[in-house]
Amino acid sequence: MNKLTIEDLDVKDKRVFLRVDFNVPLDENRQVTDDNRIQAALPTIQYLLKNGARLILVSHLGRPKGVPSEEFSLRPVAEKLEKMLNKKIVFSPTVVGPVAQTAIDCLNSGDCLLMENIRFFPEEERNDSQFSKDLASLADIYVNDAFGTAHRAHASTTGIARYFEDAACGYLMKKELDFLGRLIEKPEHPFCAIVGGAKVKDKIDVISSLLDKVDDVLIGGGMAYTFLKVKEFNIGNSILDQEHIDLVKETFKKAEALDKRIHLPVDHVITESFSNEVPVKNVEGDIPEGYMGMDIGPKTIENYLKVINGSKMIFWNGPMGVFEMSNFKNGTFSMAVGMSESQAITVIGGGDSVAAVNQAGVADKMSHISTGGGASLRFIQGKTLPGIEALAEKK
Ligand code: AMP
Repeated sequence: MNKLTIEDLDVKDKRVFLRVDFNVPLDENRQVTDDNRIQAALPTIQYLLKNGARLILVSHLGRPKGVPSEEFSLRPVAEKLEKMLNKKIVFSPTVVGPVAQTAIDCLNSGDCLLMENIRFFPEEERNDSQFSKDLASLADIYVNDAFGTAHRAHASTTGIARYFEDAACGYLMKKELDFLGRLIEKPEHPFCAIVGGAKVKDKIDVISSLLDKVDDVLIGGGMAYTFLKVKEFNIGNSILDQEHIDLVKETFKKAEALDKRIHLPVDHVITESFSNEVPVKNVEGDIPEGYMGMDIGPKTIENYLKVINGSKMIFWNGPMGVFEMSNFKNGTFSMAVGMSESQAITVIGGGDSVAAVNQAGVADKMSHISTGGGASLRFIQGKTLPGIEALAEKK
């Protein structure tokens, strides 16, 4: 995959439509509490401004479901960005129509405008063709740097691109494609995937397709109990995904046929209720009736760290336990620290694992932390991402 990048374009004096992912968390005072996603887009923004673009930033925030609201306004992001860039950011309260058009017309080279939440328009998520055309008419150049939404075929990520011959990717998108592409195109062995999280439904396809590429899969989190159930362990009241039990059985069969290893927890941190305020116990093997598994236990951690230490490439998505509660964060944090100390190429596939790596204070020790949970999972399965497919190849 060799996509056109911003460096291949002449952006001077041009109106550049830059799709970014500014979907950041806000507190009750509407202050940005984590600016990682804004930080991640800065290299592209700075490059375009330095090279004289008239920059139009477009993003979504949360899920307003096509209805404008104060709660999902990007205004606080404009204020944050202004401080981060130390530069005036013009804010347009809407994306199309005369107000937006006037704001764009007033942009000089090196000026920057942030549009209000694109998802205030239901046409965005419908990938409406007229809306895509209207968006395209605002700019001379289209750049996509929003890897986190590249798996969605929306108007500002996909529909718009067809109106530009040279739809290009920004630095963040390029970095994601390079790192994640390396995992699937040039894997180094032993290659290990750590997969956790609550639901089998969300991850079973990922595990199945990863088996074609990796040597070991370390399973943790709530979904591990469905795997253990299939292996005829007693799982007490732990979460069980009865509906996907057959898919788990097929996944075991596939691993066996390919001579790949699926590793399961051998011990567990258990409680009688889903709470941080109740007594905890460690058990090996079966989980007694009335108890639920909340984290992987110390022997499992030891086993998993051995696999991590013997790997040359590691991909991680999903926590090993209910890491939001302090009693059950040890498994997840141990994986984060173990990865940070390994010599392997380490890639964090978005979502909760990123939060865990940040909380464990080891983010700067990872080779790559993806900004897209869903997008990185799809990418690593070798599936097409519409937002990437829509971008032009290098000539
Ligand atoms: P996911 O979004 O599928 O990656 O799942 C993340 C969620 O899984 C987190 O909120 C965790 O608290 C939850 N989780 C992890 N381990 C367990 C478990 N043993 N039981 C219930 N939920 C869990």
